[in-house]
Amino acid sequence: GLAFNPNVAALPPYNAGMNIAVARSISGRDDIARLASNENPDGCSPAVLAVLASPSLEPWRYADPACAALRAALGQKLSVEPGTIVVGNGSEELIAAVSRAMLVPGASVATVVPSFGLHEIEPLAQGAVVTKVAMTYDLGFDLAALEEVIASGPRVVFLSSPWNPVGPALDRGSLQRLIAAVRPGTLFVLDEAYFEFADHSCPDGLEVLRASEIPFVVLRTFSKAYGLAGLRVGYAICSNAALARVVAAAKTPFNVNVAAQAAAIAALGDEAWMLASVARLRGERARVGAVLEGLGFQIAPSQTNFLFLDCDGDSATVASALLREGIIVKAWREKGYENYLRITIGAPADNDRLIGALARIARR
Ligand code: PMP
Repeated sequence: GLAFNPNVAALPPYNAGMNIAVARSISGRDDIARLASNENPDGCSPAVLAVLASPSLEPWRYADPACAALRAALGQKLSVEPGTIVVGNGSEELIAAVSRAMLVPGASVATVVPSFGLHEIEPLAQGAVVTKVAMTYDLGFDLAALEEVIASGPRVVFLSSPWNPVGPALDRGSLQRLIAAVRPGTLFVLDEAYFEFADHSCPDGLEVLRASEIPFVVLRTFSKAYGLAGLRVGYAICSNAALARVVAAAKTPFNVNVAAQAAAIAALGDEAWMLASVARLRGERARVGAVLEGLGFQIAPSQTNFLFLDCDGDSATVASALLREGIIVKAWREKGYENYLRITIGAPADNDRLIGALARIARR
């Protein structure tokens, strides 16, 4: 007889990656290729590992709820006022915080499909009504449709660019076109979780939004290029400090733990490690993409550390076949997109295993 919050009880499940223990038991292999969660196969900077082992880390103390030192370091790197930055337990938490800060039951939200699950799930948890713009047939953003939905005046627009799960990024002109469609009262959230993997043809969304007049939140994370997924640190850069205060009020107080704050500061202090890793992963992305296209798979152009691939049949069947070979990928489940797999660019040996397995599958 419990009365649940109906918005929460009705949420669609978050499609998280397959558990490694399950993958080991299904494949009978110990060496699982984990290509489902867009983690960094290079690991993280040795400076991060050093700070985690340092006696100056005090796990018995509460962490700074304001993340002042990390916000100062980010403010300096990005040339933004630290008072406009909110740090989260992963950028996931900030998607939830923005939703809590902005949305009341019945409020409207615009996003895309296929999309990062939480861009829909968190607004739904607040009772919002979510409109999703489909991608084009050639695996791109449908700019005209997006412009129309944005101009209808939703409370919040959630877009990732580079786009999870598809891969492309909005170019400068396209981003400016969407910004121009924003009406007063709409918050534009640009999730740049994969920002560091994009090439120089892609704009810095933060820079473009700062040059505009609209209210915005740019989301970035230490989970991908910096390799800190397990520590959970993401951040929001808000168009002004008043917005940042409301977003911060919507997070939990001691959200980012002592290890995570110290690790993120250490990671920022070793950008050279991140840049070298990103260069390697971009090279692998080009190599793997070209080989898979050679096998006849259609792949979206990617500015990320993953590829979105058309299996020309149910992707769950292909994912199961890969799992039996000890390779975890993500089969897309959103309606209309059941033929797609999202595959993280991993270490070269894991990528080669994937290529070998997909070549056998393609021949069948
Ligand atoms: N946004 C996007 C677009 C993502 O792909 C992810 C991770 N898959 C996140 C946010 C959340 O990342 P984290 O919470 O690890 O920062």
